[in-house]
Amino acid sequence: MSAGSAAHAIPPFKERLREALESESLPVALGRSLPQLSERRNAAFSARDFEGSQADLGGRRQAALDRMPELIEEFTAAAEAVGTVVHGPTDAAGAVATALQVLHDHEVQMVVKSKSMATEEIQLNAALEDDGIEVVETDLGEFLVQVAGERPSHIVAPALHIVRERAAELISRATGEDLPPDPDVLVGAAARHLRSRFIEAGAGITGANALVAATGTVMLVCNEGNTRLASALPPVHIVIAGIDKLVPTLADATTMLESLPRSATGQPISTYVSFISGPSRSADIELSLSMGVHGPRHVHIVLLDNGREAIRTNPRMRSALQCVRCGACSNVCPVYQQVGGHAMGHIYTGPIGLLVTPYHHGLEHVEGPQSLCASCGACASVCPAGIPIHDLIQDVREWAVAEGHSSNTMKKRALGALADERLLERGARLASKAPWLQALGRRLPGSPLKRLPLPNVQRRPFRDRIGELTTTRSKIATRVAYFPGCLTDWLSPETGEAAVAVLEALGFAVEPVPFSSCCGLPAINAGYKDEATQMMRQTVKAIEQLEVDAVVSTSTSCAGAMLHDYARLSEDDSAWAERARVAAAKVRDFTSFVAEQGIPDEMLARASGVVTIHDACQSKHGLGLGPETRELLTDAGYTVVEAPPSGECCGFGGSFSFDHPEVARRMRARKLEAFATTGAEVVCVDNPGCLMHLKEGPAVAGAGRPVHLAELLRAVVD
Ligand code: SF4
Ligand code: SF4
Repeated sequence: MSAGSAAHAIPPFKERLREALESESLPVALGRSLPQLSERRNAAFSARDFEGSQADLGGRRQAALDRMPELIEEFTAAAEAVGTVVHGPTDAAGAVATALQVLHDHEVQMVVKSKSMATEEIQLNAALEDDGIEVVETDLGEFLVQVAGERPSHIVAPALHIVRERAAELISRATGEDLPPDPDVLVGAAARHLRSRFIEAGAGITGANALVAATGTVMLVCNEGNTRLASALPPVHIVIAGIDKLVPTLADATTMLESLPRSATGQPISTYVSFISGPSRSADIELSLSMGVHGPRHVHIVLLDNGREAIRTNPRMRSALQCVRCGACSNVCPVYQQVGGHAMGHIYTGPIGLLVTPYHHGLEHVEGPQSLCASCGACASVCPAGIPIHDLIQDVREWAVAEGHSSNTMKKRALGALADERLLERGARLASKAPWLQALGRRLPGSPLKRLPLPNVQRRPFRDRIGELTTTRSKIATRVAYFPGCLTDWLSPETGEAAVAVLEALGFAVEPVPFSSCCGLPAINAGYKDEATQMMRQTVKAIEQLEVDAVVSTSTSCAGAMLHDYARLSEDDSAWAERARVAAAKVRDFTSFVAEQGIPDEMLARASGVVTIHDACQSKHGLGLGPETRELLTDAGYTVVEAPPSGECCGFGGSFSFDHPEVARRMRARKLEAFATTGAEVVCVDNPGCLMHLKEGPAVAGAGRPVHLAELLRAVVD
């Protein structure tokens, strides 16, 4: 086992990403598991009040974090009262040293382990092996990873990246048998191979799913049964668990069980749930208490801090400790689905890994992986603990940029240009007049433009067409301003014209204001807070000058930025926070604004054709849109057919598609293939970024033409 137990020398991010993208087996492995996990999770919550259980679990987790120092004391006293020895809280080195000391004290030569991310976090296996202690991983996924000499790629399913054919090779190697790639056969062979080790081991090492302060109890959850054997058969049981696992009462621990198995594997309850309160004991002979009967005589619990207190005392990041390690965020992450956890993470992988890695292992280890987040928000939408994961990833990104870990001179200049209205206009007009410059740039040897998705800038942007629009100047009608956003302005001005026509038809007096600056979303997404703040202030000032009741945007990304991100950007400056709040109060996304009015009776069902829908991330996860789009299209006369998963990211993600064009291309291909299965002639999109990205994709036979919702609705008002 030594190969697998050596300290994981983690290759640089770029190498990991390249390996992931070049691997032939990884897409197969991810494709065989992740969709199933998400489907099972969705089914498990389909008849339940997910938001209610999320609020309950999140509230309990938050309350426990508030009382953490007190809970540490309470837990220590209660656990020691039942004969457990409690160590710490301590850091990674302290936890390793404590575990080694306990093993030396009991002259342990071999340990059996159950799956534990806390022991991965502190690289325990390597330290034990260096000390001459044999380590046997008994969770089947961890066993595979150990035999392969790799590291877990998923916090719940460590061997998710390993296809069954490779699993057969690995288990054959470990057992000396020639095994077929049949999961039942492989599981049986591995279980037979491991069975005797539980008996022979001098100690069992586990993590914990919860530590109950009131009773000093460890809660352990598993399906294979190995956690029970590892915690019950050896004479010594060592638990290594983060202080974030502390909960006040058994009721808090069982509340976790309502959501954890459902979110992780779609099970209503895991096969084995153990509550362990101290060493095994008996008083059957004259009530004389003897310790260590069938179970361990010695139980040690090592409380691990290792950056957790720093997270807890950071008000913005604190909720990251509410995590119950279910892995659902990874399962739905569209980027994780393409590259897996070795690229998207460090030791902790997936979306939650991007949050905790800087605190457990250092900011430098998250520089590359955090750039893989496309800011789609899917992770937060399934988190049973209610963690605003994508918002917190933004914080990590800003931190990485501020510390110089993720700064990029080219990107900084480009964002600076977006913040400069005149520079933006000059650059866009030049690009529109010289498409040959782009073509030439792409052909130059080694040109980075070859890989970048460069848009076709329009010679007549929306701002040049405003004078030609027929707009009502009535003082009686409700006045609204139309905010096109940079992409509509420069790339798809026809969307802006359609939006103005629809709003006019609904009876609004539209001020087609020439907003000339960017709302700041690209800088927000890229973590460049100074540039983002500058653009936010320009936009707020522009809105303040308008005498309108609403500012309507056909970009759900711009609307989302103004509605949600401006508050975060301005929270350190109370005057700007108030100005941003007042400005944002006027902002509306086109979809819900038009849906609220409804299509006038005389215009109903004027359109025809089959349409499928791409729910943009900002529309679905940011603004909660979805039913409105379907209702509007149906009322307009279109036949709507679904292309599941309609809300999955298309790969645009602001600067994401420029930073990781190959990953973005694969995400788009997946969407286009889904559209093609519907037979729809048109794909309705209500976000100009997605529209641009989908239009730029290579033709996929049968995939409909992407069109903005405003243009589809124009068909009924013209
Ligand atoms: S926001 Fe989207 S891309 Fe980013 S980590 Fe979450 S699910 Fe993944
Ligand atoms: S962040 Fe939420 S979804 Fe992700 S592993 Fe933790 S609890 Fe599960």
